[in-house]
Amino acid sequence: MSAFYLEFRDPLFSIIIFFVLLFVISFFSYWWGRYKKREDHRHLDRFLSQFRSLPSKSELQTLISKGEISEKSWLLLARAYFKNGDYEKSIEIYNELLRIVDESHRRDILFLLGKTYFRAGFLQRAKELFLEILKYNPRTPQALNYLLLVYEYMRDYKSALEVLEPLDEMQKEVERDSIYLHLLALLSDSSKSEQEKARLLVLIYKKDAKFAHMIYEYLFRVDPRLAWENLDTSICERIVDILWSVEKKDLDLDIISQNGYLRELYTAQGCVSLAKSSTTFEFDVLIALQGRANATLTFEYICESCKQSYPFAFNRCTHCHSLDSMQVTLGLTKHYYRNFCEENNSFQ
Ligand SMILES: [Zn+2]
Repeated sequence: MSAFYLEFRDPLFSIIIFFVLLFVISFFSYWWGRYKKREDHRHLDRFLSQFRSLPSKSELQTLISKGEISEKSWLLLARAYFKNGDYEKSIEIYNELLRIVDESHRRDILFLLGKTYFRAGFLQRAKELFLEILKYNPRTPQALNYLLLVYEYMRDYKSALEVLEPLDEMQKEVERDSIYLHLLALLSDSSKSEQEKARLLVLIYKKDAKFAHMIYEYLFRVDPRLAWENLDTSICERIVDILWSVEKKDLDLDIISQNGYLRELYTAQGCVSLAKSSTTFEFDVLIALQGRANATLTFEYICESCKQSYPFAFNRCTHCHSLDSMQVTLGLTKHYYRNFCEENNSFQ
């Protein structure tokens, strides 16, 4: 049996002990390294999570009331939240600031809060705040401008038109707003028929020649014949998307044949064959293709004032609130529903 046991003084015993110790030390060293690495990660995660999660309302109340951070810093933070679309946090900060600011800054905070409510879609709250500002400071054009927008979004066009009076007295440009509000009031007037509204729109356009896209969109939708009869051919490029979508049965070939742009547009569409080429690149490509490929036009709408682009038509830019500033740009794309459209536009 003794052959199976190593003696205490046997050199082999010392070697085995050495390797066992080496293994134990290596194992603990490896385990400790992994443990430290995991702890470091956790610490970093905990640290970063402070910045990822937004402060709660009570935390904001405590921080703002303590006054450790300057009012300007809070305003910058509220503005950052506003820009990121986190209107709730922005509103909480402004509401807390209103508790501590002095009277000289109260109007500014009220205005910023009203703007945030407006952007967040709380129109009634925004209206109350702008009216409160105007109650003590009636000659505040910024508040009047926003109150005008609030009434417009609430479809209270009568009140919106009343807001134009003090703005006009302060020598502010209100002509476009006035025309636009009258147009909106007319289109929402349920006591008038569609034909009556169309006739009135023609008269308004003849008088001011503004809001062409808005007016012709309604005319071509409700009464294409009246639209063709009163078409202002000088603004065809501004309403190219409307002209492009007019149904084949509603086209007026006499008027189309007399205007170069319309000839190229409807030749590009394949409805007529009155042009061999076009100075407009997109039309030229479509005319050259002559229906051999499934291609059609796409439209993008750009605000001339702020250069913001939209996939849909607009009368008032939602970014800079400019009126009648839309420009239509053309593009080419695959016509996925060509066969379907041709069937529906067919005379047969
Ligand atoms: Zn704009």
